[in-house]
Amino acid sequence: MREILLVKTDSGAGLTVWQKVFKELLPDIDVYDWADQFVNRERVAYVLVWQPEPGQLSRYPRLRLILSDAAGVGHILADPQLPKNIPIARMVTQETAERMADFVSMAALGLVRQLPELIEAQRSRHWATELTGRVSSEVSAGVMGLGHLGGYVALRLGAIGFRVSGWARSQKTLAGVATYAGMEELPNFLAKTDILINLLPETHETAGIIGAKALSQLARGASVINVGRGTHLDLDALVEKIDSGHLSGAVLDVFKNEPLASDHPLWQHPRVLVTPHVASFLSLRARAGHAAQAIQAFRQGNALPYAFDRVAGY
Ligand code: NDP
Repeated sequence: MREILLVKTDSGAGLTVWQKVFKELLPDIDVYDWADQFVNRERVAYVLVWQPEPGQLSRYPRLRLILSDAAGVGHILADPQLPKNIPIARMVTQETAERMADFVSMAALGLVRQLPELIEAQRSRHWATELTGRVSSEVSAGVMGLGHLGGYVALRLGAIGFRVSGWARSQKTLAGVATYAGMEELPNFLAKTDILINLLPETHETAGIIGAKALSQLARGASVINVGRGTHLDLDALVEKIDSGHLSGAVLDVFKNEPLASDHPLWQHPRVLVTPHVASFLSLRARAGHAAQAIQAFRQGNALPYAFDRVAGY
């Protein structure tokens, strides 16, 4: 019996790209749309999903592997009927890390060179010669989460001139990066950070981790780049700290509720850049290629690339 891959991407488009890539790489797998009513459920062995409707994953008796259409898997774990013993592969590739490093570099340099203020000055036709910014070598970028993405980003920030530190659950060694580990070292890490970059996964331990307390522990005038998940950051506390002058600004790519509501005050905040969860948005072809590789590894009994660890929670 031929196996089926069902695809539900966040863009809702591109099934033909998936079918084309699988025809090239894994021609014995048929690719169908997640919403296809006529699919033989017995043949569904793989799913590639973004925010599956609760309960639907449990309807496939021969499901063997769940592929997340994102690096995070919170959108899958939200299903209370998620089948317990089926492995989950995260969507992480070298391209993910490169795109993320480009985005964070842009955001960090934008904050150092006062880009939100420059945009504001242009809008009001103000020749703002006072907006000269700082020098990156005087600025400490602190990366929360030193995994596949955070580790790569930390090295890139060092390469473009920032002083870099990083914080993770376990102790790390990264060339040129001052590293901190565990909750007990978090205050020390925050106190030395001028630009906080969040690249943590969404877990019970990390939910709300950048709240009022953590923000007030940051160096005065610091700023925040949130590219992890919206649930990590208390937006009200962030805005309060910016408006009171403790923090200088933020670049926010992820939000608790996406898309950000059109009447949300952050859209208009002069010190905040809002981007629509595009920090590391992979092309359809790259995603399909990665999914095919993950299925191939799984079929051959090899370790699943970037597998979600149910015990660690990320
Ligand atoms: P990894 O699983 O490779 O790395 C996670 C890192 O976070 C590890 O260094 C881990 O520590 C650390 N960590 C986990 N829990 C804790 C904790 N309680 N305290 C301290 N550190 C902790 O993830 P990735 O680098 O692949 O991805 C990170 C996140 O980036 C994703 O989960 C996703 O939310 C986000 N993302 C956002 C995108 C966007 O476009 N905005 C795109 C892609 C990803 P240790 O090393 O010790 O295990």
